[in-house]
Amino acid sequence: MHRKRFIQALTVGFIGLNMRSLAGPFTILKPAAPGFTLPALPYDYSALEPFIDKTTMEIHHDKHHQGYVNNLNAAVKGTPLETENIETILAQISKQSAAVRNNAGGHYNHSFFWKIMTPNGQKKPVGALAEAIDKTFGSFDKFKEAFDKAALTRFGSGWAWLVSANGKLTICSTPNQDNPLMDIAEVRGTPVIALDVWEHAYYLHYQNKRADYINSWWNIVNWQEAEDNYKASM
Ligand code: MN
Repeated sequence: MHRKRFIQALTVGFIGLNMRSLAGPFTILKPAAPGFTLPALPYDYSALEPFIDKTTMEIHHDKHHQGYVNNLNAAVKGTPLETENIETILAQISKQSAAVRNNAGGHYNHSFFWKIMTPNGQKKPVGALAEAIDKTFGSFDKFKEAFDKAALTRFGSGWAWLVSANGKLTICSTPNQDNPLMDIAEVRGTPVIALDVWEHAYYLHYQNKRADYINSWWNIVNWQEAEDNYKASM
């Protein structure tokens, strides 16, 4: 191994380790070979029915997410970003092009989104996260109300988030494919849960009724994963 490459590998490894502790267990996003790859869904395309239909999941994962991965790879080809950790890229996104911002965001957000859903949803938060939600928002219902509002009032395309900054919880929303790991974000921190409110996420089944989609989505939140994200933020 060339000395320069060895030092590079060490640096990337070191940053990757640090960023992982900030951003949760996202080892699948660090490419072994140059370039980023589409992670497999952790369940079948039809597993989230009747809340999210099979066709929406197929198009959303295989076409939209794959598109972000392809466009990200095209945007970073031949640059040091090719072998960089996704969280590291997001933390310095103000220095990057719109193509990197949109597609690195799109890749991270969707990779996160698939994991924060499950066919075996527990309907309510668990453990330390449940306690923190009650303490911060008063109750789970009040938290849901505030999150629904963020998701519903995000104009155009974007995301709603529950974010933890060293254990302090905040609800926010972001436009387009921005996220709370980006240095340009209004609210920065570790994502705990996230909801995609782009029309491509719900239009086939719910048409213009975003509120119905949001209401259904609570049935499939992976609260165990959410708690893991929360714990990793501290
Ligand atoms: Mn999407």
